[in-house]
Amino acid sequence: MRILPVLFIVLFSMNIHAQNNYELKRHQMVQEQVKNRGINHGPTLKAMKSVPRHEFVLQGLRPSAYLDTPLPIGHKQTISQPYIVAFMTSELNPKPKDRVLEIGTGSGYQAAVLAEIVDTVYTIEIVEPLGIQARNKLQKLGYDNVKVRIGDGYNGWPDAAPFDAIIVTAAVEEVPQPLIDQLAEGGRMIIPVGPHRDLRNLQLIKRRKGKLITKNRLPVRFVPFTREKDSL
Ligand code: SAH
Repeated sequence: MRILPVLFIVLFSMNIHAQNNYELKRHQMVQEQVKNRGINHGPTLKAMKSVPRHEFVLQGLRPSAYLDTPLPIGHKQTISQPYIVAFMTSELNPKPKDRVLEIGTGSGYQAAVLAEIVDTVYTIEIVEPLGIQARNKLQKLGYDNVKVRIGDGYNGWPDAAPFDAIIVTAAVEEVPQPLIDQLAEGGRMIIPVGPHRDLRNLQLIKRRKGKLITKNRLPVRFVPFTREKDSL
């Protein structure tokens, strides 16, 4: 009958060991994959050191959560490589009072990273089961400042606009006009743009004194942006 308490203690300490191990891996990920590759944006580094990425991947892939790679999250979608998350976040230069719109919630990881930095994150996911799962996960982890909506993000989130920053984590051929319209004065948008099946360009678009300034920042591969009709 003593076996139960002993088993409990063993399992409990194994869990603590696993958590510590994840924390160690997470700090190494930030150092080796982000900082050493030239990203020095303090709030991004701090956020990525604290968000438990292993919570956002499929259960069986947890040991791989901190590797230098994107990973499948089901429904033919992926969680982006840590470097890409860091790059996109730092390019947005998010500020504590910002309201941010994300199109493509996926696992919810990118939303959590932003939620560590800004006031509120509004995020839209077209694949319903992914959206529901991400919403539950973010709630469980205490990210009360993330609002998840399920649907086609093409039209943005007009009732919460304008946004200080917009991040699109699926690749488009052309930037959706409604998203441009919902970018505040002084706002920044980061979005992968380019022809289908090709390498896309991560574009940084800024609105300054009413004008748009667009820069190509990095060639990337992303899952495609789909429309409601495609996903049926
Ligand atoms: N940011 C995610 C990675 C997303 S992968 C993360 O941190 O895990 C891209 C996601 O965009 C996929 O989940 C895909 O279903 C979603 N997506 C594609 N087209 C969309 C659209 N029109 N509106 C909303 N989400 C879309």
